[in-house]
Amino acid sequence: MASRMLKFTSINPTMPEKRAAEARRSDFQEIYGDYAQTVAEDQAARCSQCGVPFCQQGCPLSNDIPDWLKLAAEDRMEEAYQVSSATNNMPEICGRICPQDRLCEGICTVEQSGHGTVTIGAMERYITDNAWEQGYVTPIKPPREREQSAGIIGAGPGGLAAAEQLRRKGYQVTVYDRYDRGGGLLVYGIPGFKLEKHIVERRIKRLEESGVRFEFNASIGETHKLSDLRDEHDTLLIATGVYKARDLMVPGAGCEGVHKALDFLTTSNRKGLGDDVPEFENGTLDAKGRKVVVIGGGDTAMDCVRTAIRQGATSVSCLYRRDRANMPGSQREVANAEEEGVVFEWLASPEALIDDEGGKLQAVRAARMKLGAPDPSGRQSPEKTGGTFDIEADMVIKALGFDPEDLPHLFNEPALTVNRWGAIKVDFATLETSLPGVFAAGDIVRGASLVVWAIKDGRDAAESMHKRMKQMARTASAAPVAAE
Ligand SMILES: Cc1cc2nc3c(=O)[nH]c(=O)nc-3n(C[C@H](O)[C@H](O)[C@H](O)COP(=O)(O)OP(=O)(O)OC[C@H]3O[C@@H](n4cnc5c(N)ncnc54)[C@H](O)[C@@H]3O)c2cc1C
Ligand code: SF4
Repeated sequence: MASRMLKFTSINPTMPEKRAAEARRSDFQEIYGDYAQTVAEDQAARCSQCGVPFCQQGCPLSNDIPDWLKLAAEDRMEEAYQVSSATNNMPEICGRICPQDRLCEGICTVEQSGHGTVTIGAMERYITDNAWEQGYVTPIKPPREREQSAGIIGAGPGGLAAAEQLRRKGYQVTVYDRYDRGGGLLVYGIPGFKLEKHIVERRIKRLEESGVRFEFNASIGETHKLSDLRDEHDTLLIATGVYKARDLMVPGAGCEGVHKALDFLTTSNRKGLGDDVPEFENGTLDAKGRKVVVIGGGDTAMDCVRTAIRQGATSVSCLYRRDRANMPGSQREVANAEEEGVVFEWLASPEALIDDEGGKLQAVRAARMKLGAPDPSGRQSPEKTGGTFDIEADMVIKALGFDPEDLPHLFNEPALTVNRWGAIKVDFATLETSLPGVFAAGDIVRGASLVVWAIKDGRDAAESMHKRMKQMARTASAAPVAAE
């Protein structure tokens, strides 16, 4: 059946159908539909089956992309799912939200040869969505139960990936999270139009059915002590993400109507999940009828502008101090936002927020920027040109990035070593922290990053935790039994 492959010269790349911008502006459903089976098989068959697959090198999980594409092209869908899920705990989630243009698809050989990338992300999503529909995704049945236990702090993608890997080996796993639901930013940060919530919920449910215990509303450092968890479990994983929002340091930044991006997004996601959210009901965090300016150029800013559109804002602008080519967010998401009516002000940096002299926001004054000399990292630094302009605004959303919370302080554990940005320091070979038996994974180690990297870290940390617990079990069984 290999002759079915290498169709990139005769078949064009096709994404699943994208809903019309007008229709998607008014709801939070995902914007891409599903592939029809024949289209999916054709898209998979475009793969050139490279001897050295660059796509695999571009994927942080080293996914075996050419193999699962070939199996999908041959309609061997259960095998495709088995291969795909061997290296990724959430393939259908990565297929939806990885910035593929910067990862696997960006260096796909077919893309580099000018034929347009193989649609790897859309195929990854298709294979595992199909596996759920067909009942191939079943609870984990470990080959044997082990008495040792692992505690995982944080039910985001890093913690969930580690929980699954450890449960596969038969460990008793408890996941603690300060939220009332699992998923971390998959549920409370990323909006439904990129990732519908039931996709995450079924993953949590499967872990529960596999014997993983979840303790929600458990805030380590507040409701639970880290030291108690260390006593209770043989190993611990810290996968708490980064949540301290960077602030806007301009005159007027404290006026009414200025909000943090994650407050805005979490409120919107909670509303979508059916929760009562007073800050939304009373209009504080509802963009309906407002003139919204979002400040920032990353994924979070893109999610804010598109959420504001869906809530019924009268205008939505995004200010970013560099140009389009140098923004950190995905180009695909910028295009989606533009289609939905967002206006981008590139090379614009906020100078001041102007109020009505009663503290109520009226406008954002922005400085026009240009790109100057490269900084030590090689990135061109934005410089002021001298010009300014005002944009009317009665709601400003700050999406300037996140830093880690002060975990040694929060956990009352000064021996937990962090770097100068507050991220946890680990031994990169094992992901073990300065506290023996305590490991760390995801954003809390890397700083704000990507879901796929959190999954990779969670898997690697689980492997190190397993090695450590195996060693502990060996040592315990070799110890002489104390005389009675
Ligand atoms: C708005 C937004 C959009 C994004 N879009 C994308 C995207 O499109 N694609 C992509 O790849 N990445 C995206 N990211 C980044 C991605 O979401 C993160 O890199 C990823 O979720 C990190 O996973 P994590 O497991 O390390 O942490 P998180 O997902 O942040 O999960 C950490 C969990 O730990 C819990 N926790 C924290 N402190 C404690 C405590 N003291 N006690 C108990 N529990 C605690 C939190 O409640 C949370 O559930 C986005 C991020 C944001 C903010
Ligand atoms: S996990 Fe992300 S980078 Fe890896 S193959 Fe899937 S979409 Fe590409």
